[in-house]
Amino acid sequence: GHSHGPAKGGAIEVPGVASIIAVASGKGGVGKSTVSINLALALRDLGLKVGLLDADIYGPSVPRLAGVHGKPEVEDGRMMLPMDNFGLQLMSIGFMVEEDTPMIWRGPMVMSAISQMLREVKWGPLDVLVVDMPPGTGDAQLTMAQQVGLAGAVIVSTPQDLALIDARRGIAMFKRVNVPILGIVENMATFICPHCGGRSDIFGHGGARAEAEKLGVPFLGEIPLHMRIREMSDAGVPILVSDPDSPQAEGYRAIAQQV
Ligand code: ADP
Repeated sequence: GHSHGPAKGGAIEVPGVASIIAVASGKGGVGKSTVSINLALALRDLGLKVGLLDADIYGPSVPRLAGVHGKPEVEDGRMMLPMDNFGLQLMSIGFMVEEDTPMIWRGPMVMSAISQMLREVKWGPLDVLVVDMPPGTGDAQLTMAQQVGLAGAVIVSTPQDLALIDARRGIAMFKRVNVPILGIVENMATFICPHCGGRSDIFGHGGARAEAEKLGVPFLGEIPLHMRIREMSDAGVPILVSDPDSPQAEGYRAIAQQV
């Protein structure tokens, strides 16, 4: 919701993009991509022009989450045009390879693919580019954090200790390279039964909030473990589009308002 200054400090310039927000997690499977697309949609609902870049080269999920497939067009033999759906500009390595093709690439190739998707895509003009980061704190993450002028990072974690330990590493990495932590999102804390509406804290509850307090970074809110979020993700229609008035959608909107 707040306006960020122009991307600064990085060696990688991203034409057409006013500000870049990374969505990161310490490990995979915690809901980083699902938060990324719903956050992008919630920012769109705030009236911003928004793009979503899938930097998760080894496990691209934006094509499936956004229900978009096919190859991007190339203009003047160089600039790729982003795909679009739901009013978002989208780019993913998944648009360029078949879904079951493994990306057998070493670090430098991963970074060059990410850099291409930043600089050789005709973005914008965009107010915000949300980047769905690869999980962990490897080479690609570090390069992104150091060379791309990130306005800040949103960290997604489940409440479990293990996920939190990994999240802590991610936070430490961003802090070390002076990328502001916009806050932590706790995902999959409370399970809401689709039959009875009853609540169970399957992976515990409150761990991410406590961690945020301990680290002195904002706690952005929690998203429950909800069947409909998973079903609609698989169907290529994010919950913010399928059920915009649901409490789950409200959760993502509350996060967008704080970043
Ligand atoms: P990551 O990007 O961290 O690997 P994903 O966003 O791909 O994680 O989510 C992993 C799986 O969990 C997906 O099948 C997704 O639909 C599901 N998922 C994510 N968040 C939720 C949630 N709050 N409730 C239910 N399912 C979820």
